[in-house]
Amino acid sequence: MPTTTSTPAARTTLRSAETPAHAMPSVASVDLTPFEAVNFQVDRAARALGMPEHQQVGLKTPFREVMVELPLHRDDGTMRTYHGYRIQHDNSRGPMKGGLRFHPRVELDEVRALASLMTWKTAVVDVPFGGAKGGIDCDPAELTRKELEYLTRLFVGRIHMLIGENEDIPAPDVNTNPQVMAWIVDEYAKYRGFTPGIVTGKPLPLGGLVGRLSATGRGVAIVTERAAPDVGVTLRGARVAVQGFGNVGSWAAHSLAALGARVVAVSDVHGGVFHGDGLDVEALMAESRSTGSIIGFDGVERISNEELLALDVDILVPAALEEAIRADNAGDVRARMVVEGANAPVTPSADDMLMTRGITVVPDILANAGGVTGSYFEWVQNTQRFRWSAQRVEDELVRTLTTAYGDVRAAAREFDCSLRTGAFILAVRRVAEATELRGG
Ligand code: NAD
Repeated sequence: MPTTTSTPAARTTLRSAETPAHAMPSVASVDLTPFEAVNFQVDRAARALGMPEHQQVGLKTPFREVMVELPLHRDDGTMRTYHGYRIQHDNSRGPMKGGLRFHPRVELDEVRALASLMTWKTAVVDVPFGGAKGGIDCDPAELTRKELEYLTRLFVGRIHMLIGENEDIPAPDVNTNPQVMAWIVDEYAKYRGFTPGIVTGKPLPLGGLVGRLSATGRGVAIVTERAAPDVGVTLRGARVAVQGFGNVGSWAAHSLAALGARVVAVSDVHGGVFHGDGLDVEALMAESRSTGSIIGFDGVERISNEELLALDVDILVPAALEEAIRADNAGDVRARMVVEGANAPVTPSADDMLMTRGITVVPDILANAGGVTGSYFEWVQNTQRFRWSAQRVEDELVRTLTTAYGDVRAAAREFDCSLRTGAFILAVRRVAEATELRGG
């Protein structure tokens, strides 16, 4: 099986993982790669903890990286080769865990960054997992259902020996869903027997969790509810804008509206919609399900994604892709708090700019950790062959995220730093402790 360590991209980014701590800038450069951007935060936390350089390098370097070739015979008779990735970042605290993304932009450095973020995220919420991430550089919108199923099964055939319910457990991410997880369960069963705990985010009849679909977005709302009073924002009546109306964005909007917030704008890849009195989120979800977008929704004003980010709101939730808020547009943000529904939607330089302007950023590894927390509950049930009630899932989600927010806030206060640096300090400390105890 080919690994990626010989590719130029791999060399470039591995160097960044090995960059000595003292050589890492304390001020964020605008052109960090995604993996460098995550490591910038890890280094900042490690410096605050006084961690020796060799330990920092060890914590940043991925455990295993795999890239596989996926030749697909298209239904129209043509042939196209895709690339599949699985980066296993760290397993010191338990089996590695992280989503699978199907998107044309998927590439090694991005997957590495996302895998690393999973290590820190699972540590922030203190679930017994490490971090991993994977994906295929395909656009599912261009594939038939049959082609997508074939590609998914081909990928599992190439990596099944490296994943497992006690080794590495994939889950849905951008453009993947419970159906894709069901194909993975079925394909994996052909090699290793029926193992529902091999993936999370499954359909209910295959051992899925009641509430997993909404868990990430619900988690965004729970964390926002905890953080808002500390920022001086009253959630009831607060104006909210959400960029990205997929799994995370739509459920975040839905859950925030249920807590009394006024969701005034949402967007997807095609553009955004705005209504100053508040949008009907459930109707927008129905519109998105039936037409594939919210852009044709009636009785609203149309806005661009850039305009959405610059709206005069209390809470901005970027819940689409990475690097939505960068040095060139961070100055336009007028929200009082930015809650990262997506992974890495704010670049390090933009993050520092927002902090300087007094805008609180609730970081991804805390704000969207409801997803992996729900996945943990699903995995626990699968491995115990037991099913929890919806109420128990909700109670445990609230308890876990409330504790995590308290832990992050305490670290931020102890080290007099942002919530992001506090979250990384907490996570790096927990991962380092586990690594040391295991003799690593
Ligand atoms: P999704 O595929 O369900 O939805 C993505 C949404 O973003 C869609 O509405 C899409 O139209 C929109 N979008 C894509 N490109 C855009 C652009 N350039 N501008 C504006 N909107 C754009 O994906 P998802 O699962 O909701 O994931 C969104 C983000 O949340 C990703 O960063 C993902 O890694 C992260 N995340 C997801 C989960 C999960 O459980 N699904 C958990 C944690 C974090």
